[in-house]
Amino acid sequence: MGRSSTTRVGSPAVPPTHEHGSTGSILSAIGDTPLLLVEGIRAKAEFLNPSGSIKARVAAYMIERAERAGLLRPGDTVVEASSGNTGNAMSMVAAVKGYPMLVVMPREVSAERAAICRAFGAETRTVGDFHVNEALETARTLGRQPGYFAPRQFDSEWNVDENRTWLGPEILRQLPAGVVPDAVVGGVGTGGTIIGVGQAFRAVNPSCRVIAVEPNESCTLATGEVDKHLIEGISDGFVPDVFARHRDEVDEIVAVDSAEALEQTRDLARRHGLFVGPSSGAHLVAAKRIGRRNPELREIVTFLADEGEKYLTEHFD
Ligand code: PMP
Repeated sequence: MGRSSTTRVGSPAVPPTHEHGSTGSILSAIGDTPLLLVEGIRAKAEFLNPSGSIKARVAAYMIERAERAGLLRPGDTVVEASSGNTGNAMSMVAAVKGYPMLVVMPREVSAERAAICRAFGAETRTVGDFHVNEALETARTLGRQPGYFAPRQFDSEWNVDENRTWLGPEILRQLPAGVVPDAVVGGVGTGGTIIGVGQAFRAVNPSCRVIAVEPNESCTLATGEVDKHLIEGISDGFVPDVFARHRDEVDEIVAVDSAEALEQTRDLARRHGLFVGPSSGAHLVAAKRIGRRNPELREIVTFLADEGEKYLTEHFD
């Protein structure tokens, strides 16, 4: 197919990047993460964002867009359902901007994740056991009350907008001259990352493939199955609205065993010095598999979504 060498991707060709008015605070350090080359796959080092994950972007973007839209006013409480990273990121943004923050999370989220939210001054509430859907209902209900704002990452098109206008174009600018992506591979928490980045990539390569990753133990997107798995941050136990709305933009769903994801995750630290979480391992397993099966896909992009420290006792030590 040889699409890789067709279009030059330069900054004027991509959508405008997200503007956030946070100069001077830690929020100005979000983004501009390195695009690495790991075992032949382009890996966006999102774990280097403040608060340690890819979710710093969507948290800052949604909060600041809500401020501009007049939906979030001084004194309002921000409430969000999260299995972890979004909760941590929103708590950081709320801390900087002075909003009270309530994170609703399932009980089996690692203790560290809830504690990180509280370290940022947020309140945490546990609703439901392993999956996020009950927490989501609580956040939606609270968000309808006066004095609350719920960004609703699982429902909101703003999540896709962030990825299409900020993360996606940033990656395009980092690829070598003349190179366009042939595929984007990523796990689905909300679906925002692969959908939005996929839209940005298809603006420069219309046949770019969008590939979703989910745990083999819980193939919710492919078959509706919901079960426990070890790839925290993806496959939260339901098909999120963001993913459902854009399902026809996804070419393929790849299932990765939790055990294989974890082995790859440990290997990323040991062999590449990349101390990242299990979804990053799952992403790399899936991206390499896609590359082996489709040698014509030369430029495959994936995400090192969060840092490894909060999984230390669970998965590393
Ligand atoms: N990996 C990790 C570690 C995450 O926390 C998330 C988001 N929950 C994802 C991947 C998937 O991101 P998205 O919500 O954009 O689908």
